Amino acid sequence: MTAREMTGIGVSPGAAAAPVARLAPPPAMPDDTGPEPDPDTALADAKAALETVAADLEDRAERAEGPAAEVLFALSMMPRDPALAGRVAKGLSDGRSTPHAIAEGFAFFRSALEAAGGYLAERAADLDDLRDRAIAALLGLPMPGLPDPDHRFVLVARDLAPADTAALDPAKVAAIVTEQGGPTSHTAILAKSMGLPAVVACPAAAALADGTEVLVDGRTGLVVPDPDSGRVRRVLDAESKRTAALAASRGPGRTADGHAVQLLVNLGSPADLAGAAAVDSEGVGLFRTEFLFLDRETAPTVDEQAESYGQVFAAFSGRKVVVRTLDAGADKPLAFVDHGEEPNPALGVRGIRLARTDAGASLLNDQLTAIAAAAAQHSAEVWVMAPMVATPGEAAAFADHCRAHGLPTAGTMIEVPAAALRASRVLDGCDFASLGTNDLGQYTLAADRMNGALADLLDPWQPALLDLVSLAAEAGREAEKPVGVCGEAASDPLLACVLVGIGVTSLSMAPSAVAAVRAELATKTLADCAAMAAEALNANDAAEARRLVAAFQ
Ligand code: PEP
Ligand code: MG
Repeated sequence: MTAREMTGIGVSPGAAAAPVARLAPPPAMPDDTGPEPDPDTALADAKAALETVAADLEDRAERAEGPAAEVLFALSMMPRDPALAGRVAKGLSDGRSTPHAIAEGFAFFRSALEAAGGYLAERAADLDDLRDRAIAALLGLPMPGLPDPDHRFVLVARDLAPADTAALDPAKVAAIVTEQGGPTSHTAILAKSMGLPAVVACPAAAALADGTEVLVDGRTGLVVPDPDSGRVRRVLDAESKRTAALAASRGPGRTADGHAVQLLVNLGSPADLAGAAAVDSEGVGLFRTEFLFLDRETAPTVDEQAESYGQVFAAFSGRKVVVRTLDAGADKPLAFVDHGEEPNPALGVRGIRLARTDAGASLLNDQLTAIAAAAAQHSAEVWVMAPMVATPGEAAAFADHCRAHGLPTAGTMIEVPAAALRASRVLDGCDFASLGTNDLGQYTLAADRMNGALADLLDPWQPALLDLVSLAAEAGREAEKPVGVCGEAASDPLLACVLVGIGVTSLSMAPSAVAAVRAELATKTLADCAAMAAEALNANDAAEARRLVAAFQ
């Protein structure tokens, strides 16, 4: 890497090179000039400014489509929230000038979002953007907004509000780079849905000036200012090859030298069933069954469950379906189960631990009965696994329980470090293991997976997480039992190759990720994957692991 190269988190694949255009800065905040002489008029002016912002967003929503339109409509409701006007009125009666009363109103809601943490905290930037727009409208200044040069450009911003991302014209914007933001921010979600290459969390991008030519790789997170033409050509060529390979990608997962790796889909709701079944995959590697239990006052009956599982087995007739038993507790409490007071719910009675209680044991029993009944009616190859297993004893007890219900293939998720460390003994008592890298990452790095501020620690490229994957894969190899990955790590094509090099036997991911993973795998031999794995395992942190492995593209 040259000294000037920058790295962030690649959140939307694709590569592009174009001059930088930065997002227009927000209006400078005037000094607080104290109480307004006529608070009623001041409040009316503030409300008019908020309405201008809402109407502008609504207008843009009507011109947008799909997720962009939904995001803009949702945002247009915020400035019209009477609670916000109430806060502005309070600011005015406390003696603030109108711009400061507006800013205070937004600050109040911002701290509420930040206090909620996780996904909601990532929405805080939305409020800052709305505040800046409202103040610009109040002061009669141009709305802070997108640059509009007469050429294609790479949009660079400190953070990018959804209102701006949704309004981007993909014909003009070649790629997005933000200094802040996380992988679950609206910017990332929208950029992916619009097919725009995007890199977030790239603080060095603060130094990028308007007009600087920049090469952006939304897959690796690399941002290169003033790249030489040879490098641009190489990256763009590799990108067009990747797109072409993706379009041609078919059939079971294989490395270039024919090493088979099962490619499977993750399924979490009946709404996704048709789309997931249509994807060219070998089946479902993770069927999350929580959808049947959450948002209800009483437990679903055995018949109701059997009917639902049967629909999935029918859609995947002849293919494998790995059903994960209920993973309730922590952030997914059940209304009909008393979870008690838990100071640290993520470390509490969740997943298979729920079966320690009578109510939980009865839920598990009913669920296995329903899965077995549905499996008997259909020709899908049904496997069952338990979430949050920590000890070999739990793994064996669960497998015995499944077999007693006539479900012959029983496994465990490995998402607690203890289970990875003792994977051989865990596998002694069951038939297979599936690594839940989302939770395994959270518990290994001691970083709450709901906390966007810890995105770097939660990065699935963390070498410590890969070390535990390695232990589990080695145990699987020795026991000759399958050990796959079903966490988000499997959906990153390069990391998928690393996982294969480490020795996992299957990869289960969002249906939309399958083609890219299959295509990437097809360009690497098993020896390439092993070399990539060695580099990643040798790195000191996630960023270094990505960078070292990017050289294999
Ligand atoms: C995981 O933890 O990686 C996993 C696949 O399970 P979930 O995301 O449902 O917790
Ligand atoms: Mg999990």
